[in-house]
Amino acid sequence: MNLALLLARVAAQDPERPAVLHGERLLWRYGQWAGRCARLAGGLRRLGLATGERIALVLHNHPAYLELMWGAWWAGLAIVPINAKLHAREVAWIVGHSGARLCLVDADTGAGLDAGCPLLAIDDAGYHALFEAEPLPITARDGADLAWLFYTSGTTGRPKGVMLGHRQLLTMGLCYFADVDPIAPEDASTYAAPMSHGAGLYAVPHVIAGARHLVPASGGVDAAELFELARRCGPLSLFAAPTIVKRLVDHAQAHGLDGEGLKTIVYGGAPMYAADIERALQQLGPRFVQIYGQGESPMTISALSRRHLADAAHPRRAQRLASVGVAHSAVELRIADEAGRPLPAGTPGEVLVRGDTVMAGYWQDAEASAATLQDGWLRTGDVGELDADGFLTLRDRSKDVIISGGSNIYPREVEEVLLRDPAVAEVSVIGAPDEQWGEVVVAFVVPRPDAACDPAALDALCRSRIARFKRPRHYRLLPQLPKNHYGKVLKTELRRLWAGGG
Ligand code: AMP
Repeated sequence: MNLALLLARVAAQDPERPAVLHGERLLWRYGQWAGRCARLAGGLRRLGLATGERIALVLHNHPAYLELMWGAWWAGLAIVPINAKLHAREVAWIVGHSGARLCLVDADTGAGLDAGCPLLAIDDAGYHALFEAEPLPITARDGADLAWLFYTSGTTGRPKGVMLGHRQLLTMGLCYFADVDPIAPEDASTYAAPMSHGAGLYAVPHVIAGARHLVPASGGVDAAELFELARRCGPLSLFAAPTIVKRLVDHAQAHGLDGEGLKTIVYGGAPMYAADIERALQQLGPRFVQIYGQGESPMTISALSRRHLADAAHPRRAQRLASVGVAHSAVELRIADEAGRPLPAGTPGEVLVRGDTVMAGYWQDAEASAATLQDGWLRTGDVGELDADGFLTLRDRSKDVIISGGSNIYPREVEEVLLRDPAVAEVSVIGAPDEQWGEVVVAFVVPRPDAACDPAALDALCRSRIARFKRPRHYRLLPQLPKNHYGKVLKTELRRLWAGGG
């Protein structure tokens, strides 16, 4: 079924229900929003866009994102959301690769962009004129038809276009209710993280629930703005990468805030260290849920629920806190060896996923699709292990595992230990080539402001907690870690830094 039906249903039942806010200002109720999408669909058709074609969205977070998503689906088109912070040349490559026929931009992202297809700015009269078209009925779409072409962040090469159909996104949306959080109509999904990624995907379950959608006036993560919005417009729910959660918790600590009006912060997309989530829970209370997903199974591989996080008395509390929870309801999880054979509980291997959220393949890349989808299973490239209760603990991306003297070392385990030192704000561990050992462990450490990090003290900490062979041989202090636009640490950059002399 077409995802546009989800919006049309709520609009028909309850047209007056508040739907989209820009900051504190209510822009559209559900009836207005659906009406705009039907006319926008008509306008896109009038431009000559045919069912199955694609439009690229190169926009900072803005309410227009929401009408463009649903307007495109209404017309039977697929969207290609592109991170607004990418360089114009990176954007042009993605637009060209996707074959998008039209590129929606804002004043910032359109500047100097040569996308190889017409650009239309959302503050342009031409954009507003689209809404003068006759409303279009919803174009019938099958679950397998492309809805969202999701370009991976490309930390290891050219981004790949993950093909997500209406079925994948609908299943992802339903899993939110089953495994992440129930949504009430008065809740507001808040788009602080980029809408081109997980935050935007979560618009789907919030439309199913007929909830509100709030785009902060800043369009991004401004901790003071978010806490104030929560107080005045809550209950707010948002998706945030662990680095953003850290920023919010720092702000709350500095200003004595307890998170009033914040319903749920769903965190994921990168490792959340145990010390950080403990601090977050202490400061803001039981407002957190973790998800583990990847573009190839969007937001939906496993979840560590509010209940799991709150269960302080559980005998395996520490392991659970460091895990990414249990499989989402709609997917099967397996840990496998290199040949894809299942491994028993407690043995690390590659995480494989099967289910209705898993992508159809990579856009125009049969080779990468065949390497990633095997025998019906998605090979995530993540290393993890399941415990007897079904909790998944991620070690690392398989390419980040360090092999030193023939033993596997998972950087995450070393990072968790180093973060116990109160002088350490952030840390990232890589393997560096070494003649004797093959690889040795190198730790890049960001000290807390006004704190002095002492490698000897860090070494003593490691010796007290992990095997000697896992200890970093070298420490490098940095003012900050290199990260991509979604807040993920770029280990490739760290390796380059090390190779260039540290
Ligand atoms: P992306 O496709 O850009 O969303 O990146 C997905 C990758 O981010 C996954 O394959 C994991 O390596 C990592 N990731 C996602 N969620 C988590 C999580 N909760 N904990 C640790 N790593 C995660």
